[in-house]
Parts: sequence; C-alpha cells; structure tokens
Amino acid sequence: MIGERIATGVLRAAAGLAATAWLLAAGPAGAAGEDPAWSQVRMGSQGAPQPIGSYSNGCIAGAVQLPPEGPGYQIIRLSRNRNWGHPDLVATLEDLGRRAAAAGLPPLLIADMGQPRGGPITDHAAHEIGLDADIWLRLDLPQLPRDQRETLKPDYITGPWTDVIPRGALSAQQAQLIRLAATEPRTERIFIHPAIKRELCAMSWDDRSWLGKVRPWTGHNEHLHIRIGCPSGSPLCQEQAPTAAGDGCGADLMSWFPMKPPVPRKGGKPYVPPPLPIACQRVLTAP
Ligand SMILES: [Zn+2]
Repeated sequence: MIGERIATGVLRAAAGLAATAWLLAAGPAGAAGEDPAWSQVRMGSQGAPQPIGSYSNGCIAGAVQLPPEGPGYQIIRLSRNRNWGHPDLVATLEDLGRRAAAAGLPPLLIADMGQPRGGPITDHAAHEIGLDADIWLRLDLPQLPRDQRETLKPDYITGPWTDVIPRGALSAQQAQLIRLAATEPRTERIFIHPAIKRELCAMSWDDRSWLGKVRPWTGHNEHLHIRIGCPSGSPLCQEQAPTAAGDGCGADLMSWFPMKPPVPRKGGKPYVPPPLPIACQRVLTAP
C-alpha cells in the first residue's frame, strides 16, 4: 500500500533525524529529550488509564507497574523505575511470559517499559504513552535475585550497521521469542534489526502472517521492542498506520540494505523535542 510506504518512509526519516540529533545533543545529565519533571516523578497518577498523544510524543495517566518478576519473566534494572505502562501492556507481557515458559524458554528479560507517567524518556525515541516495552534477546539466564539483574550484559546478535548476522547467531529460541511476541493479540508492531528480520524471513514457518508485524528498524540488535495498539476507550491515543498485509520480507525490507550509519550533523541548532499535548500538563501535576 503506497500510503503505508510513504508514511513509513517519512516516519523512518524523521526517526533517524531525531535519533541522530538526540545522540549528538546527549550529555551525561540533563540530556536533550530528558525532562527531569517526567523522569523524577516516582508514581503513576490516580484514576483510569489513559494514553495521551503519540508513541513518541505523549504521556499516560493511570499507569500501573509490571510486578518485578512473574511466571516466565523477570524485569532487569528495576532501579530505573521504568516498569510502568497501560494495564493492557502489563497483561500482554504477563501473558507473553506464560506462553514463553510453556514453550520451554528461560525467563524473559524485560527491560524498559515507560516512566510512571510516561513522557520524554532518555535512550528512547518512543516509550512515552505506556504501550511500548523492550525485551532482551538474551535467553540463557535462570531466575535471578533482583540485585543481580542490575548489571547484566546484553547478547548482541549482530553489529548495529551490519547487513547480515553471523551464521547461527540467532538461536531457534530467540526466533521463537520474536514469534511469540508478534502473535500476542494486542501486538501492533515489533521492532527488530533489519538483518534479524531478514533471518526470520529466511526461516520456514507454518504460518508467516505474523512476520508482517515484525518491522525492521535500526538498533534492536540485542532486544526486541513490542508495541501494542491504542486500547479501546482511549480517545486521546494517536493510532499509527497499520502494517501492510503480507510478511514484509520483500522490497520494503531490502530497502534497508546496505545499512549505513547516519552522518553526524555539523553545527546547527540542538534538537528540540516537539511540545507535549496540553493534557499532559495535568497528568504531570495530578495526585
Ligand atoms: Zn524500545
């Protein structure tokens, strides 16, 4: 669908630009994209859950926490206090943990979800409205005590700008994890490194329909990003154009190769994030 392709292209260009500017402007503290007001609030707001705005520019009222561990998963780096999201996201991750355990996978390592009230968050271009979560591809650890989950190292499947992955670098279990995440009923998209998507496309699957939800994106060479759709009863949540029909293994995927790192911009003004939706001010100051 041409509309989808154009929209994706624009989005991709915009995301690349934003990510580049972000990296260039990022310092150790008070980095661009980090608004301390959003990162310092420790609790979600009271009341009904309500995502406001878009995945990359918004906030969430009434977010809840994913428990630090549960059947089939464990949260890493709990000290970051980023295990907040919409109840539908929490339910999705809990369900995914149960299905992964039933499939014989070791506990999933759940990384960043969102901040207690969403909003701008360092290290991410999205994760702002409680509907996104990162899951590491590393699948070799047992259930660990919370403090030992603070300093784990990820498992890099390939380099950030590498077109192919080394033979055997993506295990059958890791491919299974991506399939399980893509087939969660609420999943809207999965983001994964283009070379990993290409590897998934080359595998034989009884049903390939889920591959269309697995979208190639830069980064994501050691984690997958799961995004659920706007929950029903969320009029302020901005939907994204649905993924095109088919497995997405054709020209759209191939347009990513050869991968090239972005050229750093010289000079110019530092990146200024767009203003948040007005309704987010009330979320920030709500009890
Ligand atoms: Zn992510």
